[in-house]
Amino acid sequence: MSGARRAVLLVEDEASIADTLIYALGTEGFEVEWKTLGRDGLAALRSRAFDLVILDVGLPDASGFEVCKQIRKESDVPLIFLTARSEEIDRVVGLEIGADDYVSKPFSPREVTARVKRILQRARGPAAATAAFEHDALAGRVRYHGRALELTRYEYLLLATLLATPERIYSRAQLMDLVWTDADVFDRTVDTHVKTLRAKLREVDDAFDPIVTHRGLGYSLRLPG
Ligand code: CA
Repeated sequence: MSGARRAVLLVEDEASIADTLIYALGTEGFEVEWKTLGRDGLAALRSRAFDLVILDVGLPDASGFEVCKQIRKESDVPLIFLTARSEEIDRVVGLEIGADDYVSKPFSPREVTARVKRILQRARGPAAATAAFEHDALAGRVRYHGRALELTRYEYLLLATLLATPERIYSRAQLMDLVWTDADVFDRTVDTHVKTLRAKLREVDDAFDPIVTHRGLGYSLRLPG
């Protein structure tokens, strides 16, 4: 992965730990944005895209677990917990709270950067490549086979709706309710947007049509492979 520097959001209230990590990640080419409060971390995550989040469990304003739950409602961004106590590790693992990994304090910065790199490799490696669609709900963007789709607002909302539950058949009326929440539209508006969305997907992969027409019923989305 060349080009833009990868961005890490670090939410950690201890300055000495943050400094060490910012330095270690910086030498590996990462750009680190540092926040000390959970709410500031969430705000940062809503304001721009990050490749990975490092989240301390013991924050002054909230538990890292609560912050993680909130993040998971909005984003699938890879996430590593920094934990201080062994019982916290049990919770991280046991509750399957949505973290990708954890590191226990005290840790070496090398260990953290190694895990960050491993997770990012996994996220961009062959395993993720089989997930044809990557939906960044925070940013309102969808990548298809790794390529960012240039979608209009309603094309995006339509695709996001179908992507939320692959294989589920949505009637036109359901799609009109779910996608065009702020406008009165006709059946053919749905069809028109399906058509333009299909064309954009075909530009990326012309051998597979992920949007399935079910005659008399509606549309569904199927995943390749
Ligand atoms: Ca702390």
